[in-house]
Amino acid sequence: MVNATNMLVAAAGAAVASAAALYLLKTRKSKAIKWLSNKDVEAWIDRYDTVLFDCDGVIWLDTEAVPNVPETLALLRKKGKRILFVSNNATKHRSQYLDKFKKMGIEATIDDVVTSAVGSAVYFVERHGKGAKVYACGTQGLVRELEDAGATLVRPPNELDTQILISGPQLCVVDPEVKAVVAGADWNLTHRKLSYAVQCLLKFPGCELIATNGDRLYPAGDGNFYPGAGATVKSIEFCSGKTPVFIGKPGPMLLDLLEKTKGMDKSRTVMIGDRIDTDIEFGNVGGVETLLVLTGCTPSREKAEESKGVQRPMFGIRSFGDIGVALGVGKAL
Ligand SMILES: [Mg+2]
Repeated sequence: MVNATNMLVAAAGAAVASAAALYLLKTRKSKAIKWLSNKDVEAWIDRYDTVLFDCDGVIWLDTEAVPNVPETLALLRKKGKRILFVSNNATKHRSQYLDKFKKMGIEATIDDVVTSAVGSAVYFVERHGKGAKVYACGTQGLVRELEDAGATLVRPPNELDTQILISGPQLCVVDPEVKAVVAGADWNLTHRKLSYAVQCLLKFPGCELIATNGDRLYPAGDGNFYPGAGATVKSIEFCSGKTPVFIGKPGPMLLDLLEKTKGMDKSRTVMIGDRIDTDIEFGNVGGVETLLVLTGCTPSREKAEESKGVQRPMFGIRSFGDIGVALGVGKAL
């Protein structure tokens, strides 16, 4: 009894200590961001063997490459750096990323790209085995990544039917072998899809809710912000009462996957991104160095300087293309 009580007290103490440590990490007086100037760039790049990139807002803005970025990437490859692209965007299959890279003159192979769709697929197959059944509330890109990893996709009839105006038993016939629902941004989200996902989670207690990522909004090329993966995830979470497992940034899953599959040395790795609450937190919590660029979601140094704790970048620069210009490639803007 005494032992059990002691253990409970110790566990409670550990929980308080870990909450306190997290609080301190989030609120501690932040170190100054080192803004790189041209003369710093050569020594800065020598710190790393592996460079991890977010794509949207760093490599490209919608369909256009950020100026001087393709030239800078080519130079880094020439210097022997390993370049990997880490994206929260689960709507595209990696082959679609390659098409985009090719159009921009950027060299890349399918193994250089890791998305939250890939992470979700690997996570699912590792937990449930090849051939296990999954229901995907997401785009065709997500479905293809799950299939590539060996999952069996359940495809309910009429899930895209928007003509049926009544609910009823036809919505409730779900496959009892579904082991998980994977939720991501879904451009064809319907009540039928949500119903299928929610029924699986309500009826089968072991059925997991896997979220590719939780982004509330995504910035589109037309300058507007539209509902992101969070719209799908939160709907299913709210209706089913199931807590999702989040795969994408800022969670640690994608970095763990990279470490396992690429064997990188974290002490010689940098994460480059445009968002402090996903990319920078992902890198800092994951134990790699971080560089913030101002070509995407963080528009200014002033905004970057407001960041605190785990969301504070170690380094900053106006654009990743400026690295190349400082090293003698591309055109000074
Ligand atoms: Mg981005």
